[in-house]
Amino acid sequence: MQPDLAAAIENRRDDLIALTQALIRIPTLNPPGCEYHTICQLIASRLEARGFAIEMIRARGTPGDSDTYPRWNVVARHDGATQGECVHFNSHIDVVEVGQGWTHDPFAGTLQDGRIYGRGACDMKGGLAASIIAVEAFIDTYPDYAGAIEISGTADEESGGYGGVAYLAERGYFDPQRVQHAIIPEPLNKDRICLGHRGGWWAEIETHGEIAHGSMPFLGDCAVRHMGAVLSEFEDKLFPAMALRRTDMPVVPDGARQSTMNINSIHGGQAEQDADFDGLPAHCVPDSCRIVIDRRFLLEEPLDQVRAEVTGLLETLKQTRPDFEYTLTEINSVLPSMTDRDAPIVRVVAQAIEEVIGNPPDYVASPGTYDQKHIDRIGKLKNCIAYGPGILELAHKPDEYVGVDDMIDSAQVMAQSLVTLLTGKAQSV
Ligand SMILES: [Zn+2]
Repeated sequence: MQPDLAAAIENRRDDLIALTQALIRIPTLNPPGCEYHTICQLIASRLEARGFAIEMIRARGTPGDSDTYPRWNVVARHDGATQGECVHFNSHIDVVEVGQGWTHDPFAGTLQDGRIYGRGACDMKGGLAASIIAVEAFIDTYPDYAGAIEISGTADEESGGYGGVAYLAERGYFDPQRVQHAIIPEPLNKDRICLGHRGGWWAEIETHGEIAHGSMPFLGDCAVRHMGAVLSEFEDKLFPAMALRRTDMPVVPDGARQSTMNINSIHGGQAEQDADFDGLPAHCVPDSCRIVIDRRFLLEEPLDQVRAEVTGLLETLKQTRPDFEYTLTEINSVLPSMTDRDAPIVRVVAQAIEEVIGNPPDYVASPGTYDQKHIDRIGKLKNCIAYGPGILELAHKPDEYVGVDDMIDSAQVMAQSLVTLLTGKAQSV
């Protein structure tokens, strides 16, 4: 590690803490998508004062965008003294709901025993703050660097990223002509490089029946029993088949190295009554039953095959089970993304981790998706990883926190990676 650069980051420890706290204190809850403009403005005014060109971009017309909850994004760009490659740090600005069980104020950004607590501390305002500090320290230490650095704060990652990275990618912000290296500082731990994620396929399945008096079910057709047959097929055939499929992707935790499916919800028959209703149910044969499935799939599984596996079971039931009728409605799909282990950004960050932390990194892939999917599939930029401070398992939990030392260490890794990529001063990798 370059000693002057290491000192420049260490000297910014108080600044890093204050910046992380300031970001946490803006409650950017999604849904519905609060305070996006406020947090983008905080990032913009800080970086504009340091010579960055700022673009504030509202993702008009994307899911959830309205005048009450506009989907704002910020892209800040700093050009070096000469031409060269562009390194982009992308962080999402939104956080998930607070939930129960907190012992700290989720929006106070309390500093205690070297940890900063708050919703979004780990996922991922700590990573955003670390990247800003890393970039500022790098620019001050190497003002004559070649190339460009971009920092973006983007909306809606927690709800699919369509009003954030997807919107920017569609407009060329991640075109490989513009950006050559992308780092997403999600909380993957400071000594791990996340190469990508599994795919996802979400669908609603409805079975159809016929309403009749509950005392004479033979006069109707029970949609819940039909759904029971669907679930039996899943138990007998689909789940065992998925369990046999292991991926070469280094997905963590280990249980996610196979195909998985969650049955997200089930609804059949009469709608549930309000809690204050104390009447009795009417006696009816349900004419509809619906489930939502959340199927996570592997790089080795084509999406068509994932779909066909489920529809094949349903079609078999249609042939074999009397009066079985169903509707399948696809809700969304996301393809897996996996960056090559020999990609330049992987090798550069791996070397920086080894220099700063003292050990070679672990290479992992994420069980769930994150914004890399849009940078890869829409932006066509393959040279992208997730790397940032924080413990993945704390994301979305009560008393979420980020360690200050972890943020400092990962900022050192990010800054050292910039030295390699933009100054040619470090040994080439
Ligand atoms: Zn996140």
